[in-house]
Amino acid sequence: MALLPIIEAPHPTLSKKAREVNPDEFGPALVQLLDDMAETMYDAPGVGLAAPQVDDSRRILVADPSNNDDNAPTLYKMVNPTIISKSAELISYEESCLSVPEFYLNVKRFQEITVEWKDGMGITHREVFSGFPSIVLQHEMDHLEGITLLDKSSKFKRSRYMSKVKKQRKKAKARK
Ligand SMILES: [Zn+2]
Repeated sequence: MALLPIIEAPHPTLSKKAREVNPDEFGPALVQLLDDMAETMYDAPGVGLAAPQVDDSRRILVADPSNNDDNAPTLYKMVNPTIISKSAELISYEESCLSVPEFYLNVKRFQEITVEWKDGMGITHREVFSGFPSIVLQHEMDHLEGITLLDKSSKFKRSRYMSKVKKQRKKAKARK
């Protein structure tokens, strides 16, 4: 097991559409990556982590949306996830992101989605998610499209955040 470094916006990998995992990539190495991503997510701590956030531009994510309620932990490790159906009903929630620290945004999402994905060994799974788990998975799947909360926010809010980050990075550089 290993903790992976989480990258922060702006970063080219966060803005890039991730590619599908190829059939020959399934197996122990991919299973290991999924375990490392889960460890990194729990350590952060976060409820979801997509591969582009650890600078790997492939369609991979982990999520454990259970810590918002009293349910036992439910860890999902998804490779090539796709939404195969969605509800007409929308819900809104104030979201945050490990790659966009100290940024909060209300985002409208589908209340319920059916997701199909493969595990690290290439076995197909399908499940219906509603409420908070549905929100978390849609957020993580946005990362696979190269979309972060910044892209969903207003231009004003985004540029205000970007100039704050620029200043912080300048300061950090000066300290080195
Ligand atoms: Zn995120």
